[in-house]
Amino acid sequence: MPLFIKKKENENSRLGLYASADSRESIPKYKIPEEAQDMRTVYHLVHDELMLDGNSRMNLATFCQTWLDEYVHKLMDECLDKNMIDKDEYPQTAEIENRCVHILADLFNAPDSASTMGCSTTGSSEAAMLGGLALKWQWRKKRQKEGKSTDKPNLICGAVQVCWHKFARYFDVELREVGMEHGRYNLTPEKVLELADENTIGVVPTFGVTFTLMYEPVAEIAKALDKLQKEKGWDIPIHVDGASGAFISPFVTPDLVWDFRIPRVKSINASGHKYGLSPLGVGWVIWREKEDLPEELIFRVDYLGGDMPTFALNFSRPGGQIVAQYYNLLRHGREGYTKLQQSCLDHAHYIAEAIGKLGHFDILYNGQGGLPGACWTLKPGDHGFTLYDISDKIRSRGWQIASYPLTGAANDIVVQRVLIRHGFSRDMADMLIQDYTRCVKYFEENPVRKPLTQQESGGFHH
Ligand SMILES: *Cc1c(COP(=O)(O)O)cnc(C)c1O
Repeated sequence: MPLFIKKKENENSRLGLYASADSRESIPKYKIPEEAQDMRTVYHLVHDELMLDGNSRMNLATFCQTWLDEYVHKLMDECLDKNMIDKDEYPQTAEIENRCVHILADLFNAPDSASTMGCSTTGSSEAAMLGGLALKWQWRKKRQKEGKSTDKPNLICGAVQVCWHKFARYFDVELREVGMEHGRYNLTPEKVLELADENTIGVVPTFGVTFTLMYEPVAEIAKALDKLQKEKGWDIPIHVDGASGAFISPFVTPDLVWDFRIPRVKSINASGHKYGLSPLGVGWVIWREKEDLPEELIFRVDYLGGDMPTFALNFSRPGGQIVAQYYNLLRHGREGYTKLQQSCLDHAHYIAEAIGKLGHFDILYNGQGGLPGACWTLKPGDHGFTLYDISDKIRSRGWQIASYPLTGAANDIVVQRVLIRHGFSRDMADMLIQDYTRCVKYFEENPVRKPLTQQESGGFHH
């Protein structure tokens, strides 16, 4: 075989990418290139471009996992080519998914966790769609049996994550969202009773509200619905959006009753890729009992060999995230999850205390009794800076901290929030506090000289 190396490739390996002609040309951005390229060159060009993304570990705006141990990386790599939907071809991945479902059902105190139903999803959003669909089908079956109309389903919730707005629009359900008010940020039993009627397919408390990190009172809402059933005969189920909290509370506040210990809680969703500690791309939805998932929503697929039940919006999807979830459950166990989550809560509390001492901020949530994180507002009055200014300024040190308005009638309150996750240490908390303090000092000395509107000043206005 003649030794024939194209000159360009030769130059590349001889000189290295940054001395070769390749590094002096722009890469095509919006059209596929005509010619194939050397894989190392392309790898480095893409790798280098990604340097402009933020550092995920310093992204305190996300709930999602950003620290993954080397064995998670290994397992992800080993499963890269396995499609979790091919349950006949990859029966062991299917078995592992099944084990995770029962482990989580047990963690959420299902009455018979070994026989209940559930599945993995791409995240809590898909899990919420499936949970919502089950509620809608169950309600419709009941109404049809009673010979009543089924054209006006509604769902009651507090300040939900956007996935519930999507569910309502995509699946034609009226969302009765109880917006926040000054001093009331959670869904309350009273509000649920005001809004519920015979067409309510379910109530969705959020267990770890995206905006405030606090838990909505699931048990109190369930009690109110028990009373409503006695009075009106409407048996309204609860689905808990436990995207984050379902992986926190069972470990750090096991006596807090929010889960299947409440008979009215029929389904729960959780994000494996948030406090489940698994890599991006896995969520879970679990039903209390087999009967709570309507059989009509399950498709039986036989063209892959075997007769496999599936309930999902997706079809093909990698199996690695599921395998990594199983690894995490085994590797950390109850002990590990408890210690990890408690450390994150402690760091969050430590940060909230320090921010509170700076004098400018009212702490809205201090990292205790909810998710591992904290959020605060500016005290009323002119500070010479807004929370948005701080988010901007602290970004120059690499920290990404979200500032955003609350919802409903409280949307004139701007809050700032940090989330503390696996991979955070007291040293990082100290570095964050130092940088934050420096930012505040900078604005004290160099106020942003513009008159602030009430909304920008972000304080409470009673
Ligand atoms: C993150 C989140 C979701 C959406 O979950 P994904 O896993 O990102 O799809 C839904 N609800 C709540 C409360 C969340 O925090």
